[in-house]
Amino acid sequence: MTADKLVEYRNLFIGGAWVAPEDGGMLESIDPSTGRPWALVAYGGAKDIDKAVAAARQAFGPWSRMPGHERAALMRRFADIYRARAPELAVLETRDNGRALRESRVDIGGHATAYHWYASMADKNGGRTIPIDDSVHAFTTRVPVGVVGAITPWNVPMMAAMWKLGPALAAGCTVVLKPAEQTPVTSLELGKLFEEAGFPAGVVNIVPGYGKGGAGERLVQHPDVNKIAFTGEGTTAQAILRAGADTLKRFTFELGGKAPHIIFADADVEQALNAATGSAWALCGQSCALGSRVLVERPIYDQVVAEFSRRAKRVRVGMPLQESTHMGPQAHSEQLSKTLSYVDIGRNEGAELVAGGRRLQEGELAAGYFIEPTVFANVRNDMRIAREEIFGPVAALIPFDGEDEAIALANDSSYGLAAGLWTRDVGRSLRVSSRIEAGIVWVNTYRFIRWSTPYGGFKASGWGRENGLEGFDAYLETRTTVISTAGRFP
Ligand code: NAD
Repeated sequence: MTADKLVEYRNLFIGGAWVAPEDGGMLESIDPSTGRPWALVAYGGAKDIDKAVAAARQAFGPWSRMPGHERAALMRRFADIYRARAPELAVLETRDNGRALRESRVDIGGHATAYHWYASMADKNGGRTIPIDDSVHAFTTRVPVGVVGAITPWNVPMMAAMWKLGPALAAGCTVVLKPAEQTPVTSLELGKLFEEAGFPAGVVNIVPGYGKGGAGERLVQHPDVNKIAFTGEGTTAQAILRAGADTLKRFTFELGGKAPHIIFADADVEQALNAATGSAWALCGQSCALGSRVLVERPIYDQVVAEFSRRAKRVRVGMPLQESTHMGPQAHSEQLSKTLSYVDIGRNEGAELVAGGRRLQEGELAAGYFIEPTVFANVRNDMRIAREEIFGPVAALIPFDGEDEAIALANDSSYGLAAGLWTRDVGRSLRVSSRIEAGIVWVNTYRFIRWSTPYGGFKASGWGRENGLEGFDAYLETRTTVISTAGRFP
């Protein structure tokens, strides 16, 4: 076999310049559909992070004092460039993490609108006056939190970056973005877009690198970073909290989920199935909002199980860049092993495997990390496949009787990110959704995620919210000013 010619990204983006890593090196990004490297990418170490943080700190004063409408104008220019380059970014993301191109295209195709939405916040960031009495005038101002370290995962690199960069830049923060070591390419591409848009040097810095013991950990420990915005696993968030504790910086965490997707017998079952199966295989199962626990009311349970497995078998698993492909490979080999191990765990726990479960290695899929869409029936909520985040295309179908049991099962989870519920009864939709412990509840739809709707988890699914006004708030501090009108104390 001849060696593939690798696409090369030899530099980090620091202080508005493309610079070689000082104590990092070059890493290979693997194309998960072939199992072979496709890009050679610079990564940074502690010294590179220190340089990036210094650049972000230097840029912070002028950027935070720039009139909001000027920041907004720059963000809009960036958003327009992003829109033009979105098709290219979608291909690169698909090469990096194997997500089917038809999915990356839709996702990344919407990000420019989100950046525009955040740009429109930049000059509307007012505080409020607080009535007390004639002797004092009290008011608040909203000030940017400072230098932000944005740490992103491999499943949705561009979306996770946008969720952080959009509000941070609008608020007047400067950013050091550290993408996941498995998927660094598109984030470096963002550097070119910020450059082209004319962003001042140091406002956005991009340093791919490793987590523990590498660029990620240094960013977390850095005393001059004011906030870490993190998307990833709960165990990583715990390590980040420990490593960053001494600095008392701010943290927001978007973590895992084990979302209940509840289908009542009175639902539009066809629509519910579209949503439940569609979301079970989205991103090859590597989505935090995956409706991986499908709770089905007993009268329609057998019907749903049969249709779920029939549809699982119809999913076109294939090379992710092909237009016809519904579902690409798992993003990396460890994730493939993890998902396959859960297939064994499910079987051993006594769940009934009704579809999939095998690695796919036929023809051109031979060396990639492909797996069949997998469905387990007769799952109990105390089984590990119902409790732990698998992050693969594995749906667990659990029967229930009535509203109370549905709610009890839905909430019997350490996670609380998202939930779905299908019913034609409006009263029931309100009764049930108001008792669900999740940051977002979708009724008669699923995985509806927008820049304007707050997103984040209860319980072990995270701290704080991204998106919406709440997501913007997470990049601001409130300063209260109290002025004595008489100029006297007391
Ligand atoms: P991960 O925690 O392994 O890695 C995420 C990022 O953290 C990477 O950039 C990694 O390099 C970095 N990192 C790892 N250890 C670190 C450390 N000690 N210090 C600093 N940085 C460190 O997560 P992942 O496997 O890349 O992503 C999958 C997880 O992300 C899943 O649990 C998924 O549910 C979650 N996720 C959540 C959301 C959400 O919005 N709630 C969205 C997407 C993904």
